[in-house]
Amino acid sequence: MRAKILIIGGGVMGTSIALKTAQKCDALDEPVVLLEKGALAAGSSGRSGAILRMHYADQVVAMMARDSLREFAGFEGRTGRSIGFRRTGILLLVGAEQADRMAQLEKNIEMLTSIGIRSSLVDEGEIRDLFPGLHVEEGTVGAWEPDGGFLEPVKTVEAFGALARSYGAVTRVGVGAERLVVEGGRITGAETTRGTIHAESVVVCAGAWSHRLLAEAGVELPLRAVRPENHFIDLPRTYHEAEQDGSARGEGSVDLEDPLEALSEQLSGQLDPESTRAHPVLIDLETGFYARCHPDDHKTRIGRTDYESDDVVDDPDALDEEVSSEMKAWAREQLCHRVAAYQREKDAGSEAALYTLTPDSQAIIGPAPGVQGLFVVSGFSGHGFKLAPAVGEGVAQMIFGEAVSAFDPDFFSPTRFASTDASAFESTGAFGL
Ligand SMILES: Cc1cc2nc3c(=O)[nH]c(=O)nc-3n(C[C@H](O)[C@H](O)[C@H](O)COP(=O)(O)OP(=O)(O)OC[C@H]3O[C@@H](n4cnc5c(N)ncnc54)[C@H](O)[C@@H]3O)c2cc1C
Repeated sequence: MRAKILIIGGGVMGTSIALKTAQKCDALDEPVVLLEKGALAAGSSGRSGAILRMHYADQVVAMMARDSLREFAGFEGRTGRSIGFRRTGILLLVGAEQADRMAQLEKNIEMLTSIGIRSSLVDEGEIRDLFPGLHVEEGTVGAWEPDGGFLEPVKTVEAFGALARSYGAVTRVGVGAERLVVEGGRITGAETTRGTIHAESVVVCAGAWSHRLLAEAGVELPLRAVRPENHFIDLPRTYHEAEQDGSARGEGSVDLEDPLEALSEQLSGQLDPESTRAHPVLIDLETGFYARCHPDDHKTRIGRTDYESDDVVDDPDALDEEVSSEMKAWAREQLCHRVAAYQREKDAGSEAALYTLTPDSQAIIGPAPGVQGLFVVSGFSGHGFKLAPAVGEGVAQMIFGEAVSAFDPDFFSPTRFASTDASAFESTGAFGL
């Protein structure tokens, strides 16, 4: 088989890149082909919290999150495919003692406001109004982002895949790439479990599996897989019982076209706390956890905001699925301390997953050093889902030799770690804040 562009990995990155490149290709001439060894969203994407936050310290990342949120928010209206987008608002908390963090939030908010992202500092009284039932001590400060929310990750990846196919892309599910084929410093395709596929360009977006595939082709990049754990607790009735029809806030279609227009204006009128069946996403930087409701399943996910205690995973195919009792107890304790309504609720399962890290917690996106025609898109740690539309757009621009306007390619350059040693991973920061 011959492909114009061969994409390896059917997570949110692979399907987003397939969609954006297929829109630029002649499917009858040479198609975009995406290979997925398991099922679409079988990797990190399918277990993602898929929180859409725009509050970042790096402007490059905040702009990508903003532009991507516009695409996600308008996706259903444009395509008729539901991705479960819900706009709940996002509340970041810092404790009274965390002066450095508070200063950082203030700085971030100034920058976010300058690029059209609505975000403001809120005191403990305002926090209680925004999140009924939340316990905060005197002096606690929050950063409130009213336009953030979340979506359903598996639905989103499947919808991106289906849309890519509607533009002529081929998605071959259950077909794995076994080896990249490089001849004379140039990629020519990949050997797969169903024979060789020849291609002009190959994109490796195989998440935690990327490192091995690339290393075997002589491309050594600092990518490391770790194992985060999530715990789930039933969502209290007070938050989920106000079920509404499809006009739920944010669940509908919002057409967000002007990238510099404030999101608030475009989304105004949609903020209706009765209809989300969820409370705001909580990111508690004082105690290091986050909580995000899964209203359709009547439960809430709790995870850690840092990667320090996550075990390194050498073989992503042998992921240990058992979540420690310490994590389950810790997660319950954190959430119940903040929101007493959860004390009456039962545990609702737990899950281990994979993050792919880089030494600076930012992704690697761009041409692989030393192999022409090969592109790497990996290392999105715990915050890649929200960036996928911008990543897809920028990678398509790169492959077609266009100026990259979707993000700053230098920021994500695969060559930026040339002088980084392996121990640098130890300084991996929390949540890009
Ligand atoms: C628990 C958890 C919570 C998260 N929460 C958030 C959040 O709230 N917000 C946010 O923005 N981000 C979040 N993230 C991060 C985000 O989900 C990831 O950054 C993103 O999903 C990475 O997508 P990907 O396509 O790069 O990788 P993956 O989703 O891992 O996709 C890689 C795919 O490649 C396939 N593959 C591997 N090797 C091969 C091969 N040789 N041939 C063919 N196919 C292959 C795999 O089967 C897999 O499906 C979270 C992640 C996790 C794990």
